[in-house]
Amino acid sequence: MVMETLQLISGLNGEIHLWRLALMIKNIRNAVLLAVGLLLVIFHLAPTYAAAPVVTTQAPGFYRMMLGDFEITALNDGVIAYDTAELLPSATPKQIEKSLHAAGLMDPVGMSYNAYLINTGKKLVLIDTGTGGKLSNSPFFAGAGRLMSNLGAAGYQPEQVDEIYITHRGQDHIGGLTIGVNRAFPNALIRAPTQEFDIFLDPGKREAALAKSNHNEKFKEWIQFTHDLFKPYIKARQFESFSGDLELTPGIRSLATYGHTPGHTSYVVESTGQTLFILGDLVLMAAMQFADPLITSAFDGDPQAASIQRQRILQLAVKNNYWLAGSHLSFPGIGHVRPAEEGYQWIPINYMVPKKAAEK
Ligand SMILES: [Zn+2]
Repeated sequence: MVMETLQLISGLNGEIHLWRLALMIKNIRNAVLLAVGLLLVIFHLAPTYAAAPVVTTQAPGFYRMMLGDFEITALNDGVIAYDTAELLPSATPKQIEKSLHAAGLMDPVGMSYNAYLINTGKKLVLIDTGTGGKLSNSPFFAGAGRLMSNLGAAGYQPEQVDEIYITHRGQDHIGGLTIGVNRAFPNALIRAPTQEFDIFLDPGKREAALAKSNHNEKFKEWIQFTHDLFKPYIKARQFESFSGDLELTPGIRSLATYGHTPGHTSYVVESTGQTLFILGDLVLMAAMQFADPLITSAFDGDPQAASIQRQRILQLAVKNNYWLAGSHLSFPGIGHVRPAEEGYQWIPINYMVPKKAAEK
């Protein structure tokens, strides 16, 4: 009897242990499930962060300033990188190293392609037109052609432009005149320096220049390209050429700065005692050519004449505290120059939100 009782108890004990073990496993499993559930809830409720994609676009390329009562809008057509030694072959390697380092730059240096829109209150005048996105197979123009979209972003329509003044015959300054075979600015009068466009537009001079080049194919293409840009304006009697220094509209006059090209022309904009010189291609790279205006560019037709004009205009600008704006200076390409230990120092415009004269 005793033995039987003991066997029964030990048997019961074995069952009790198994039952406890099963209960423990069940509790652990429940605890794990609960923990996993809680973690899922926590991660579900917490915001998840993924790596943000790189964007690579910039704000629309327009910048405004008031010049007296005139509103100036700088318009960017693009930025193209140039190797300094190729762009400015007269600069020594030491000069390049020193000046780029001083400006915090490295080769190749991005050069802006800028145009300038002037609202005189009576007229809307555009100085140069960008590339028009043409010749994009050339490394000098690839990626440019944004002027029209930046004009729109700045709040203007091409139809509103009354006059266009051309600095010179560089394709990055006149390419935007047309869209296809049509006028990109249907209501604008185009005014351009005679010396600059004679060989493209005067049949006699065109033939003579072609013969002189031995009917060089590249030259022929260039003549055709330029001729086609002006053709629809000439047909619509919206083209005028001029020579030298003259007032084109109240507050804007041409200023002969021949050298970069035979008829290279700058424009002087004046309103209520403030003056802006629109330089065209008189200075291509601020980091190099303000410090040493004798440095000439590979694109200068007559490098010495271009250098003389650069020095003349910089002296005038320093003496009179004029604003300067350059077609290839870093956007918006507007600023002042000051005398420096070596040559001049470029001081870009301080970012501002323009106010009308009456609001100042
Ligand atoms: Zn240019």
